[in-house]
Amino acid sequence: MPSNIICKGTKNLKTFDTKSCVVTNGTTQSGSMIVAFNLQQLTEVCHRNSTKYNSSLCDFDVIASEIFKEGETWVDRTLVKDVMDRLASLHGWTTKITQAHLQCNRFGTNDTTRQFASGSLKSGCPFRITLTPWNRSKTKKVILTTGKQKWIYTDDWSAPVIIQRANCTHGLARIHISEPTRPY
Ligand SMILES: [Zn+2]
Repeated sequence: MPSNIICKGTKNLKTFDTKSCVVTNGTTQSGSMIVAFNLQQLTEVCHRNSTKYNSSLCDFDVIASEIFKEGETWVDRTLVKDVMDRLASLHGWTTKITQAHLQCNRFGTNDTTRQFASGSLKSGCPFRITLTPWNRSKTKKVILTTGKQKWIYTDDWSAPVIIQRANCTHGLARIHISEPTRPY
């Protein structure tokens, strides 16, 4: 296992707590989840201009896969995005958020998965985290053509989210990963 700040940091950068939330079927679900993340420490150790910079702890692909683990729950999508944005600015790439996906802005070609089916990733980047929210809110909507009522479900992105899939490795890094910008 390569050393990195997540494993070898002075303390774990993730803070876990047990929280509960009303979910889609109306019941209350509770579980352990990441409720906070120490962005300051990550930045101190992995920003090149920092006095505490330690390159041996900053293999960004390793850090990303330690941070974004399949099966782990985060308190909401915003926290996942904040951490990914900071990681991206330290590493030198750009994030893109589309509903359930938080990904590298060089993901795929037309934001589809067609190229996976063809077995080629040459034109895109595979870095993508797929989230599922604990809760989907439902509202009743009248269908204009029939006059009937129908439940419409919407993903609740303020609810806790579970990381369903995580690919934390960039493709063609030399092309799309540039000098990091200052994240402060
Ligand atoms: Zn990428």
